[in-house]
Amino acid sequence: MSRLLPTSTAGSLPKPAWLAEPEKLWSPWKMEGDQLAESKRDALLLSLAEQQLAGIDIVSDGEQTRQHFVTTFIEHLSGVDFEQRETVTIRNRYEASVPTVVGPVAREKPVFGEDARYLRAQTGGPIKWALPGPMTMVDTLYDAHYKSREKLAWEFAAILNEEARELEAAGVDIIQFDEPAFNVFFNEVSDWGIATLERAIEGLKCETAVHICYGYGIKANTDWKATLGSEWRQYEEIFPKLQTSGVDLVSLECHNSRVPMDLIELIRGKKVMVGAIDVASDRIETPEEVAGTLRKALQFVDPDKLYPSTNCGMAPLPREVARGKLKALSAGAEIVRKELAAAQAKPTHHQGEESFAAS
Ligand SMILES: [Zn+2]
Repeated sequence: MSRLLPTSTAGSLPKPAWLAEPEKLWSPWKMEGDQLAESKRDALLLSLAEQQLAGIDIVSDGEQTRQHFVTTFIEHLSGVDFEQRETVTIRNRYEASVPTVVGPVAREKPVFGEDARYLRAQTGGPIKWALPGPMTMVDTLYDAHYKSREKLAWEFAAILNEEARELEAAGVDIIQFDEPAFNVFFNEVSDWGIATLERAIEGLKCETAVHICYGYGIKANTDWKATLGSEWRQYEEIFPKLQTSGVDLVSLECHNSRVPMDLIELIRGKKVMVGAIDVASDRIETPEEVAGTLRKALQFVDPDKLYPSTNCGMAPLPREVARGKLKALSAGAEIVRKELAAAQAKPTHHQGEESFAAS
């Protein structure tokens, strides 16, 4: 990225009310067939424009063409029966009715390739694309075929790798894998979580990211967070393993969360997408609050590796709130950029020469 502190979002942005019911997860589409396909594209364009107007540097599709960050990907795979539903407890936290794996899983055709090419055609700037991670996919399904979370994760990792290679060919600069499940199943992260993630990014030349958060601002998540105590140290379990992995960027939650900022030290050397926007609150941060979070992060991340971002996706937020938060993110990053530039200018220039050159 050409400039310091390039801004981006963790992923999803709210959809227009004409496309799907707002402020709702798994919100059903309001149309179907060709009309739906065209409307999704229109929403993608709008979402891109909103990011650009807000000054976001690394833009995305705002996940406008997907109903949910995990299920929409799974819908495109064979071996999963969406009619046969079972109730499971997602991330040990909330019950949901999910589809069933009934046979070998396979990707019959590309899932997001066309959407990614469409986004690529709209901008010359860097673009990021989010995919679910293998462990989070396994955790959002009922498996009646492999009967092993690990086996299924390896299958998904191979499928995700095929998809990622196509996204890379479509011109995506950063491919991000969403792994909120990493914050819950620490033993599995060690046993096969990181390994399957490495399989998903195998052979990619574009940059890769992993997003690990405390979830959308829905009740099940806020209730869970209330049980986590005064310090959230989940990242402490995962970061040392990620530090030695091949992933280039780590996207994490910071602002308004109880994550001790010094845990970022554990991934020294990685690029860090620091969440400086709370997605569990409708209150729009001030640019100064964003700058404050970024300054704290700079104690543990080198400036050229700090990527200001949001804590998680903003899909469930009202649109005007999300818009305001994007602008605050840009403005906050700009404050810190100026501070860094001023600090850098000081020791290398002589006062007298500078005023002479300027006159
Ligand atoms: Zn998230």
